[in-house]
Amino acid sequence: MPYTRLAFDQQNALLRRILDRARPSGSSAKVVVFDLDGTLLDNRPRTCAILRELSREWASLHPAESALLAKIGPEQLEYLVSDSLTKLEFSPARVAEACAYWKAHFFADDHIRFDQPLPGAVEFTRACYESGAIIAYFTGRDLPQMSVGSWKSLRDLGFPIGVPGAELVLKPAFEMPDADFKREYGPRLARLGEVVAVFDNEPGNCNVILDQFGSAECVFVDTQHFPGAPALDPRVHVVGDFAMGG
Ligand SMILES: [Mg+2]
Repeated sequence: MPYTRLAFDQQNALLRRILDRARPSGSSAKVVVFDLDGTLLDNRPRTCAILRELSREWASLHPAESALLAKIGPEQLEYLVSDSLTKLEFSPARVAEACAYWKAHFFADDHIRFDQPLPGAVEFTRACYESGAIIAYFTGRDLPQMSVGSWKSLRDLGFPIGVPGAELVLKPAFEMPDADFKREYGPRLARLGEVVAVFDNEPGNCNVILDQFGSAECVFVDTQHFPGAPALDPRVHVVGDFAMGG
């Protein structure tokens, strides 16, 4: 079921309210938490780049599939690569082969550089930082294989990173399910200060956040999410990006 996004003026008001709450007051620092994939960053260009590389590898081996992979754009991608390729009528064997190739490259440092920020994401994150908040990037990417690429990508796109008050928090091991990681590590963000807002593109994570940080603004970024996700708690705000009026 499609989600009902806030109207632009309501989105603008919500983001301004969060900027206001991000200002230090009282004794504790304020913390704004952002997921990365599907929240601050569109990772579909990463998948397209990987599929283009596979297209070159398959040029003489599987020319028909190679030609299709060369043309695939972000808007044709389903959440699961296997669904995207099945839609293009790849055989189950080709789908399995392509998914293995994709998996080996997607969850690794090198291709993270293809990710693109959502509209307004860099500007809003910087504004939160400039308001005095601590920024926590809280991502299901894993520390062993994805931390360096994530750090470089945040730096190169202009997000606050490598400065006092910006933290990159990653999953300790690839095998750990993202939802378990967020449930277990979410409460640890409180050691940074008072969490005033959390942004995530997974309904399940948003629901958990409400339980953990009842007074925080919880914002669901409506991009792509895991198929079969639970219903979103009605208290969660829904936005499509981070655009704000002047
Ligand atoms: Mg995400």
